[in-house]
Amino acid sequence: MAITDKIYIKNHQQLVSQIETSFPKSAFSGATLDILFQGEGLAKLDDATQDRVLDFAEDFLDCDCQANPHCGCAEEKFVRYLLELREQGLGPDAIVDVMGDDYMLYAYPGDVLSFLDNSVRTLEAVETLADVEGHHDAAKQAQQLRGNLVR
Ligand SMILES: [Zn+2]
Repeated sequence: MAITDKIYIKNHQQLVSQIETSFPKSAFSGATLDILFQGEGLAKLDDATQDRVLDFAEDFLDCDCQANPHCGCAEEKFVRYLLELREQGLGPDAIVDVMGDDYMLYAYPGDVLSFLDNSVRTLEAVETLADVEGHHDAAKQAQQLRGNLVR
């Protein structure tokens, strides 16, 4: 399962009762994207929640793909967001705190940790493969990215 399948909406029950429509707890589930982030439910949310939901929509759902919001861009951007927080030196617990403050989302720190570990291992594999294939610039780039994640 991708990390974006393990990102959840904070105060889920409260939001469901505010917009009077049920949607899954998982932030990137198709129905959540439709109901919470695109639907008319938005207007029924209290101001603080609405701000966070709008921030999320602006930051992750702003592409022009025809399949938006189901095109996969949101998931890709969110993965980048997590990696950027890690590059700023944040650990899994702090990353979970920040996504809560920014977008009213939460995840289990253990899931974030596995995601970060997997990212490092993927970059290691890319580095090795690129070296074998003689793409030394690509290898160096992967090495740098990995360095940013593990420091
Ligand atoms: Zn897209």
